Amino acid sequence: MPRTPTVAIVGRPNVGKSTLFNRLVGKKLALVDDRPGVTRDRREGEATLLGLEFRVIDTAGYEDEDPHTLPGRMRAQTTAAVREADVALFLIDSRAGLTPLDEEIARWLRSEKTPVVLAANKAEGRAGEAGLLEAWSLGLGEPIPMSAEHGEGVVDLFEHLRPFVEREDEVEDAEDEEGERILKLAIVGRPNAGKSTLINRILEEERLITGPEAGITRDSIAIDWRWHAPDGEVRPVRLIDTAGMRKKAKVDDKLEKLSVADARRAVDFAEVVVLLLDATRGLEVQDLKIADNVLKEGRALIIAINKWDIAENQSALFNGIKGALEEGLSQARGIPVLTVSAATGKGIDTLLKVAFETRELWSKRVSTGQLNRWFEDAIEKNPPPAPGGKRIKLRYITQVGSRPPSFVLFGTRVDQLPDSYLRYLVNGIRKELDFGAVPVRLAARASRNPYDTK
Ligand code: GDP
Repeated sequence: MPRTPTVAIVGRPNVGKSTLFNRLVGKKLALVDDRPGVTRDRREGEATLLGLEFRVIDTAGYEDEDPHTLPGRMRAQTTAAVREADVALFLIDSRAGLTPLDEEIARWLRSEKTPVVLAANKAEGRAGEAGLLEAWSLGLGEPIPMSAEHGEGVVDLFEHLRPFVEREDEVEDAEDEEGERILKLAIVGRPNAGKSTLINRILEEERLITGPEAGITRDSIAIDWRWHAPDGEVRPVRLIDTAGMRKKAKVDDKLEKLSVADARRAVDFAEVVVLLLDATRGLEVQDLKIADNVLKEGRALIIAINKWDIAENQSALFNGIKGALEEGLSQARGIPVLTVSAATGKGIDTLLKVAFETRELWSKRVSTGQLNRWFEDAIEKNPPPAPGGKRIKLRYITQVGSRPPSFVLFGTRVDQLPDSYLRYLVNGIRKELDFGAVPVRLAARASRNPYDTK
């Protein structure tokens, strides 16, 4: 398990640290009092901010009674919290304006390695404007106007914290010696679809194999090589070769099971998965099972129909397979369907080109602004239903991850949203925001208060 990303809230007494902490944690854990330095209770909690989940430390708990000094005890504890955190959220009071203590904390934070996000709290209304401008002088970048009390500035806060606390991508990004991103590719399919032939064909043509590498799992190896694209580019690829491809099992009925197990292993490893079909057999139930599993696991899928060199009635066959895919798979629309011949090498460059393009879509991010412009339009065109006469209110949506792209939708009564409506939104994200056919994850969370989304 990777360590949970941590945010330390820092600031002089009474700027609103505990109020923000309570907002983020969503429970009344810390004790808030108007008198400075009263918060003594819990100082740590699990925070949720628009679907971002992280640990938050409220350093208000370390404050001493005297708000005008930065006493040793507070300093030592706060320093420890900041050093342990992935980001320090430095709060100032935009109504009160900057104080010498704010400046002292800023100086100290600038000398620390932990990145700092500066927020000007109590900025609701116009009273905070002067303080917000002043905050630039702290030399910590753009101050985020927000109001912990009134729940304002959430999206800005989210955007600024996100780079530091984002949850890890499911599939690790790999780079070669030159810093180029390696495409992690798997070829899966039923026995005799031509997987081994295709891999051998690819590797035969590419001389610069640097692998095989050590086993990814006991039964599979990764092969690093460079694809010499027709446009002259040389691009790194890591191909998974599972045991099922290298040494064939003897017993036929074991083979079917093996192909599913191989596919699972390959999917764990890959960014892009090529499902290889046999043109002489068409699309079978087993293929749909594998394809469905690839998409469920959130990997980008490409369908390649192999043995095209001996395929008969090619256009009828192609359309038949496309139609059957759309019928059999809920997320099939737009998934690239290509034809190849492992025997002659025809179509392999196109397959690799499409694989690189698909990986780009799968890794893509859209800004919260762009996303919500689309979102407002989408719910206006087709408003959510009103089960039992009660309207489901959708507020906003954010992208919380990529590889695969994942989104969280906020609103009230979202648990009553029908699947068809979620599908409408997922299709909209794919189509309007150009995610192509990569699997998109969308979760809905109920929230009245966008800070508190549990
Ligand atoms: P795997 O079980 O998916 O690894 O399949 P293999 O690579 O062992 O291929 C199964 C059979 O199909 C072999 O006899 C191959 O020679 C043949 N084959 C594979 N690809 C092609 C192709 O593109 N065209 C033709 N005509 N035969 C192929």
